[in-house]
Amino acid sequence: MDSEAHVNPDPRRQIPSVDALCREVGRDHSELPDWARLLATREVIEGARDALEKLLSRGGKPSEIRQILDIDWTETVAGRAARIAAPHPRRVINATGVVLHTNLGRAPLAEGAAQAAAEAATHYSDLEFDLASGQRGNRLASLSRKLQAISGAEAALAVNNNAAAVLLALDTLARGREVIVSRGELVEIGGSFRIPAIMERAGVRLVEVGTTNRTHPADYTAAIGPDTALLLKVHRSNFEQSGFVAEVELAELVEIAHAAGLPVVEDLGAGVLGGWHAPGFPSESEVRSRLDLGADLVCFSGDKLLGGPQAGIALGSTKVIEGMRTNPLARALRLDKMTLAALDWTLDALLEGREREIPALRCLLEDPGVLEARAARLRRLLEEIQELDIDLRIEGDRVPVGGGSLPGFDLESVRIALRRRAKGPSPSRIAERMREAPVPVIVRLRDDTVLLDLRTLSDDELPDVADAVRLAFR
Ligand SMILES: *Cc1c(COP(=O)(O)O)cnc(C)c1O
Repeated sequence: MDSEAHVNPDPRRQIPSVDALCREVGRDHSELPDWARLLATREVIEGARDALEKLLSRGGKPSEIRQILDIDWTETVAGRAARIAAPHPRRVINATGVVLHTNLGRAPLAEGAAQAAAEAATHYSDLEFDLASGQRGNRLASLSRKLQAISGAEAALAVNNNAAAVLLALDTLARGREVIVSRGELVEIGGSFRIPAIMERAGVRLVEVGTTNRTHPADYTAAIGPDTALLLKVHRSNFEQSGFVAEVELAELVEIAHAAGLPVVEDLGAGVLGGWHAPGFPSESEVRSRLDLGADLVCFSGDKLLGGPQAGIALGSTKVIEGMRTNPLARALRLDKMTLAALDWTLDALLEGREREIPALRCLLEDPGVLEARAARLRRLLEEIQELDIDLRIEGDRVPVGGGSLPGFDLESVRIALRRRAKGPSPSRIAERMREAPVPVIVRLRDDTVLLDLRTLSDDELPDVADAVRLAFR
C-alpha cells in the first residue's frame, strides 16, 4: 500500500484531545504539578495545530505532516511541563568571563549581603522605625549617610534601578521644560532603556545638539534658552566612538551650565564607589571624581561596578536630592527592604576596604596568576575524566566587563579551550548540553572550540563545570 494512504484525510483529527493527553501525562508523570501539566498540554496541542494549519495551507507533503503528528505526545508534554514548573531564576555557572552579564543577572550578591537581605525579609525590622526614640523613622537615612561618606556627595538617594533614578531626576528637575543632550549621547541600553523615550515619559522636551560624532561647547551655549531646565550627560555604556569625534567633557559642561544658572545631571550608568582600583580602569567610572568635577547629580546602577543589588543610586546637591526625595513619583520607585539591606551591607564592605568580599569586584580584581592556577586545577579535574577524547588547552583571553560598563576596555583573563578530537556533536550542541547539566554552565564558542573562561568561575564551581563537560562531551 502507498504510504500516503496512511494519512487521514483530515490530519487535524489525529491531534489528541487536551483532556485525554493531559490525563495520560498525569498517569506517567505523577511528579508534575497539575497546573503545569495542563498548560503544557494546551501549548503543545496548540503548537501542533498551528504548525499543521500552516502546512496544509501551503499544501505540505505527507512526510512533513507526519513530522508534526508522529511525535511522542506524552513525553513532549511532560518535558514542557517540567520546564514550566521549574523554579525561576535558576542558578547557573558563568563561564563566559563577562563579569557583569546582563542576561545572567549582572552582579551576584556577596554572601553577607544575601544574608542581610534574608534577615530583613524573614523578620520584623526597624525599616521605618527609630529604635532610640520609639518614633517613626526614615527608611533611607542610614543608607544616604553611607553613600555620602563613600562618595563625598552632599546628599544621596537610592531607588529601584538606574532607569528609575534618571526618570525621577528628569521629572523633578525638568518636567514641562527643555533638557539639552548631545546627539552622540542619545543612547539605547539593553533594548528597553532609550534616553529620548525616558525623556518623553518624564514630560521633558529633548533638545538635541551637535552631531552623532561631534559636539562642541558652542552647541550647548547656543541651545540654552528661557525654557532650559538642565544639561544632561549620558555615558556611552555599551559602545565606543573613535575617529573624527569630539565631545564636551564634564568639567566644561559644568562651566557652561553654571554660567547660565543651570544644573548638570550625569547618567553615568556604571559607577565605582570606594577606594579600589583595577589596573587600566577608565577614571570616568569613579563617582567621586564626577562629583568633584561639579556635576549637580550623578546617577548609576547598584548592580554594575558597585557589585550590589539592582538599584539606582543618585548622588548630588542637597537641593536636587531633596526635590527628588519629595517628588510623589519617588514612592512608586522606592527600594524594598531586602534590596536596602543588601545595598547597606555592600556599602559597608566598600567603606571598610573589603571590596574583595563582593563577588563581582573580586572577579574584576583577580590577577591573572590566580586565574592560571584555577585553570590548572580545572584542567586536572577534566583530565581525570577517562572517557573524554578532547584536546584541552590553557590559553590567554581578553574579556569585556559587560553589563553596560567600560566599553572598549577589556580585562586580561585565562581560559580553557576544549576541542573534540573525533567527530561528534557540534559545538553548539555541546553548549546546549552544558546548559542541560544539573547546574547549567554557560560557555562561549569559537569555531569548533568550547571556551571556559576562568575569570568568572570560582574554585568551588570547578567540580560542577567538570561534571557538565563530562555530560556534554560524552
Ligand atoms: C545600565 C544603564 C542604565 C540602566 O540602568 P538600570 O539599573 O539597568 O536601570 C541607564 N543608563 C546608562 C548609561 C546605563 O549604562
